[in-house]
Amino acid sequence: MNNFLKNAVPGVQQLNPYQPGKPVEELERELGISNAVKLASNENPLGPSANAIKAAQSVLGEVNFYPDGAGHKLSLALAEKHDVDQPCITLGNGSNDILELIGRAFLAPCNSAVYSEYSFAVYPLVVQAVGAEARVAKALPADHSKMPYGHDLNALFDKISNTTRVVFIANPNNPTGTWFELDELNGFLSRVADDVLVVLDEAYYEYMPDELKPDTQTLLKRYKNLVITRTFSKIYGLAGLRIGYSISHPDIADILNRVRQPFNTNMLAQAAALAAIDDQAHVTNSAALNTSGLQQYTKAFNELGLSYIPSIANFIAVNVNKDAMPVYDALLREGVIVRPVASYNMPNFLRITVGNQQQNERVLTALKKVL
Ligand SMILES: *Cc1c(COP(=O)(O)O)cnc(C)c1O
Repeated sequence: MNNFLKNAVPGVQQLNPYQPGKPVEELERELGISNAVKLASNENPLGPSANAIKAAQSVLGEVNFYPDGAGHKLSLALAEKHDVDQPCITLGNGSNDILELIGRAFLAPCNSAVYSEYSFAVYPLVVQAVGAEARVAKALPADHSKMPYGHDLNALFDKISNTTRVVFIANPNNPTGTWFELDELNGFLSRVADDVLVVLDEAYYEYMPDELKPDTQTLLKRYKNLVITRTFSKIYGLAGLRIGYSISHPDIADILNRVRQPFNTNMLAQAAALAAIDDQAHVTNSAALNTSGLQQYTKAFNELGLSYIPSIANFIAVNVNKDAMPVYDALLREGVIVRPVASYNMPNFLRITVGNQQQNERVLTALKKVL
């Protein structure tokens, strides 16, 4: 057998694949139990909107046909929702797809991308796969009074060089849950040269308190080099269908459109997402459940004397004050799946998705026991 590894392109030879959260069925099989709880992948504990389920079911009988490659109805609805022109919208097979498209379209071995320490694992994967240079900015320090482990926008700005084509920032960020103040974000965006693409990853936007939500339309008008990414995987509860999108200047969308697969978003996902947009009550309920769940965690962590990173997303990173891997394993034996973040260089932290009240209680009880 040929050694195909040496034939793979250099970026791919070095690549460590993304580690997804452990599936519930896998743990249940291993332990021979049936009531495991997974709070490891930032999924919505309320599930999808009932309207989205119905909409997906209604198109099942038509899946002999290819989907609308352009996703016309969905992109029109998204354009209306964000009050932008339809050509500003690019649909993706999850927003992960959009991140990949940006990498393929704008990054090459001769140039670079900038992102922060402790930021989303997909950024390094995208950059490495195309052989571009990753320029990683230091995050804010662990003892920072307001935003420990958060993005340091000054450090990010300083990492931009004349080879830099793309900057990835996430607000709120995963796995930290940290965020930007609006004037910080504006200050940063106004300093970045207009030929450097800034990807503002807003996968958790809908969970943010209103006063921290950047105004999409204003940002896009002001910064032509901005690509905002959103997803239906998190608050909309459609992670399994894989659908996300970006909002950008139409010239950027036009470039992304050239490299995407002709049918990158499927028929069920398009239908479900379209229906999900209209169910604002489901979004509001999900955000409210999350807010009380975050309070439930922070109260318990305070009582347990555990420090945590302040979060406005649907997860929270807690410091267990020792190697978190054995704690993660002990939690698995209690039927609880959370996410160790050693691969993010945060070996003492566990990232816990906010579930419903009972699920959170279950995690907290197990955590108390194993600590
Ligand atoms: C979950 C997540 C995404 C993407 O998820 P998709 O399911 O591909 O839409 C993107 N960015 C961040 C920061 C995330 O946490």
